[in-house]
Amino acid sequence: MPIGGGAPVAVQTMTDTDTRDAAATLAQIRRAAEAGAEIVRVAVPDARAVAALKEIIPDSPVPLVADIHFDWRLAVKAAEAGAAGLRINPGNIGGPEKTRAVAEAAGRQGAVIRVGVNSGSLEKEVLARHGGQVTAEALAESALNQTRLIEETGFTALKVSLKGSDVLSTVAAVRLWSRLSDVPQHIGVTEAGDALEGAVKSAVGLGLLLAEGLGDTLRVSLTAPPEEEVRAAWAILRALGLRARGVEVISCPTCGRTEGPVAKLAEEARKRLADLTAPLKVAVMGCVVNGPGEARHAEAAVALGRGHGQVYISGRRVAAKVPYEKLIDLLEAEVRRGAWGIGARHDD
Ligand code: SF4
Repeated sequence: MPIGGGAPVAVQTMTDTDTRDAAATLAQIRRAAEAGAEIVRVAVPDARAVAALKEIIPDSPVPLVADIHFDWRLAVKAAEAGAAGLRINPGNIGGPEKTRAVAEAAGRQGAVIRVGVNSGSLEKEVLARHGGQVTAEALAESALNQTRLIEETGFTALKVSLKGSDVLSTVAAVRLWSRLSDVPQHIGVTEAGDALEGAVKSAVGLGLLLAEGLGDTLRVSLTAPPEEEVRAAWAILRALGLRARGVEVISCPTCGRTEGPVAKLAEEARKRLADLTAPLKVAVMGCVVNGPGEARHAEAAVALGRGHGQVYISGRRVAAKVPYEKLIDLLEAEVRRGAWGIGARHDD
């Protein structure tokens, strides 16, 4: 998978299963990949997790990044197990010699290294030089020290991530890095929160950066399953017009004219069409007064009347007076008929 140098921004997530449980972790990786994850990171806290990696990697549908803290030997072993990438934290991997040893192992195995610099784990010396403050400059200095150290070994397949303690400090650090170095960046807002809070913070922070052309891979961190992170990441990319994938269900905000269960039908449409990968807009509108007009901006739409609804394909009405309980069946059938060459399922 190409990263940086003008390649499309890649969507990443992280598993929350116990990596030592290879079957559960692999199942979650598959679900994330089906939702559109292009890279998945897995925590590798001990030797048993490395052993599980050996089972997981051959069957993973996407490249895996091993997330290592504290023990550089685990990073070496994860590279030897075939991890496509290693994520290490300079603040806790154990000093320059250990970092060099990891770089040499990654070089031998053809793995990428991400240097992940977080506000909570900056090296003490760097922090001291910046008056004990986690500034954008401090984060960038830490990342520069580490990337130079690794590059001195001749290893260049590098990525960095700089994460401040809040949205704006992260944005400042990513902008600063882009002025200092060509090393590609993984961007994300760390410890973002539950599904709503986290998605909003990520949309603000990542949106600002992506709109400026910054960021080569991204993760939306949520206290929610990885699939939700992936959905949010794609929604951000789609909103910015950078990339599109799968069905985008838009629904009207509802008002005093609303005739039927807009939210329920919209959710039903999203679930039924979740396996489609080609970009497609589906609208669920609450009335036949304004609904049809607004639905013209979508490839497929339903507009609700009292107790029944209409189905539109490419702005043309193809069915009227369809009972609510049959509406999404019909919409799905029309969409899968392949009017846009999207009838094939993901795994066909
Ligand atoms: S589509 Fe109809 S129900 Fe929905 S917000 Fe507009 S006017 Fe109200």
